[in-house]
Amino acid sequence: MKNRSAYTSKIRNRHRTIERIKLLIVLMSVAAYAPAQQYDLLIINGHVIDPKNKIDAVLDVAVADGKIAKLATGIDSLQSKKIIDAKGLYVVPGLIDMHTHVFVGSKPGTFADGMYSVSADDFSFRSGVTTMVDAGTSGWQNFPLFKEQVIDHSQTRILAFLNIFGTGLSSGQAIKDISTINEDSTVAIMQRYRDLIVGSRIGHFDGSDWTPFNTALDAATKMNEPLFVECHLPQYSLRDQLKKMRPGDIITHSYEEITERLPVVDSSGKLHSFVLDAQQRGVLFDVGHGGAGFWFSQAVPAFQQGLAPNTFGTDLHRFSMNAGMKSILNIMSKYLNLGMSVNDVVTRASWNAAKALKHEELGNLSEGSVADIAILNLQHGSFGFVDAGGKRLSGDKKLEAELTIRAGKIVWDLNGLSAQPYQR
Ligand SMILES: [Zn+2]
Repeated sequence: MKNRSAYTSKIRNRHRTIERIKLLIVLMSVAAYAPAQQYDLLIINGHVIDPKNKIDAVLDVAVADGKIAKLATGIDSLQSKKIIDAKGLYVVPGLIDMHTHVFVGSKPGTFADGMYSVSADDFSFRSGVTTMVDAGTSGWQNFPLFKEQVIDHSQTRILAFLNIFGTGLSSGQAIKDISTINEDSTVAIMQRYRDLIVGSRIGHFDGSDWTPFNTALDAATKMNEPLFVECHLPQYSLRDQLKKMRPGDIITHSYEEITERLPVVDSSGKLHSFVLDAQQRGVLFDVGHGGAGFWFSQAVPAFQQGLAPNTFGTDLHRFSMNAGMKSILNIMSKYLNLGMSVNDVVTRASWNAAKALKHEELGNLSEGSVADIAILNLQHGSFGFVDAGGKRLSGDKKLEAELTIRAGKIVWDLNGLSAQPYQR
């Protein structure tokens, strides 16, 4: 009996083991068939423009862990937790605004820590922008405050050119006092905040002494970064400024027509040849629209004669935000209506800017890159565009930001493309 009982127990155990194996096989097959949902977000059917990778086609874009996971046709939608149908829309790298003033604070009458600046998040995502570059609102003395007060608390990625004047744009006026210039301190701050500071900046100086310009250029050279030249330098000649600038240095307000600076197009409508020569030598021309920096009387003949902007900086601040500038998309739309292609305007607002900033990890949709993405709607209709001189250009094309993604998170969704339908 004892032997028989041991035999039965052995059989029972073997049965149990077999049953367990069977159950395991069933569970494994279920797991194999169930969607793994390896992506957090999948944008399907959109027209992808990724200038870095020379992509200009209808493709799906998958996002996982805040990064671009895959670009391909027909990515399985069961593999994603969320689907966005971008049919009829453009899917492009998150836009980079090369020229803003976002060192906002409570001081009246000033840009640095002041009310002339604006808050980045209030303007960026609704325009498809995921990176804003502050154009020297701070200098070596107040950059740490700018970082602590604004950069660290913004969802928008903020990079900065460092003003050669120690207190940055600490008034609304052109600076005459050069006593805050200190090259060693400037370079020390540029080194300490290397991940945030993208170059040095000269502008708003009313003097004929070239020390500020030369010092800013030296600091940029020492850091192997670009110099950003924001005109308002009435006593420097444009020809001399361009002559001193190296390939990769950036001039902004390229199409300004004001008395304090020689315009790029002369009174007979001809583009100065030394200006085109500078661009061909590698000096970069940024729009820097602002309140006074963009005139059709300059931009249109310059464009027709070969001087297209390299980047579309807005010069966003309190006095441009509600004027003819409005947003980077409005500037891109102006150029679309002047005959530039969608691919060319996207290139200038993304990959060109990333290259100019030497931040080539940005402005592209390469697999593994941070998932900063703008989904744009190209509207067709009857539109008007205004310049700094109050002139109106009619056009039939206008770009609008439908949805913006910053590091894989949806931060702007104009028409609820990513939201569930409300059931009444
Ligand atoms: Zn500016």
